[in-house]
Amino acid sequence: MNRRNFVLTTIVALSSLPVIAQAESAPKPIYELPPLPYPYDALEPYIDARTMKFHHDRHHQAYVDNLNKALTPYPELQNKCLVELIQNLDQLPAAIRTSVRNNGGGHLNHTLFWNIMAPGGGGEPQGAIGEAIRKQFGSFGQFQEAFEKAGLTLFGSGWVWLVKAGEQLEIMTTPNQDSPLMAGKFPIFGNDVWEHAYYLNYQNRRGEYLKSWWNVANWAGINLRFENA
Ligand code: MN
Repeated sequence: MNRRNFVLTTIVALSSLPVIAQAESAPKPIYELPPLPYPYDALEPYIDARTMKFHHDRHHQAYVDNLNKALTPYPELQNKCLVELIQNLDQLPAAIRTSVRNNGGGHLNHTLFWNIMAPGGGGEPQGAIGEAIRKQFGSFGQFQEAFEKAGLTLFGSGWVWLVKAGEQLEIMTTPNQDSPLMAGKFPIFGNDVWEHAYYLNYQNRRGEYLKSWWNVANWAGINLRFENA
């Protein structure tokens, strides 16, 4: 794993992803699709294997490919941390600003997403994050209700997040593939409410998907992100 991918993995995932072995002769892509940390069917019945396969192998791969395409003509940008790039979009060449925003954001958001879900997840959040949620929102149930409502009422494609802003926890939404990092807020976890995340199994029933999603929340991983925020 090169430095760029190592830094990205450390910052975004805060968990160990398998290192991808590369043949000496193969041209090294700037960014690489991280492997899913569990099998495609591991999150069933809440998220089906077909959705996971399309979501990871096609959608996430496309963000990585398009990000690489955007950065290829700019060697000076290729060794910068992706978080730094998306936090300073106005400093990028105008020709690639939108592409880095959408595809860099997409790569960061999805790398995070795979790691804050886990088979056998769900239940009440334990540890520091559980305590912080109850303190900020009254109860886990009240937090869930507010989070689901924000995700359900977000028009079009985007994400619903729990973020750390200063010392406060906040629920926020972002359109498209925007990251809370672009607004100077740290994403503790988020749920992808693009139709590609749920449509094969839930069709237009986004609310049902949002409710069901808690069953795959990886609270141990989320807590680790919170403690390192
Ligand atoms: Mn997605």
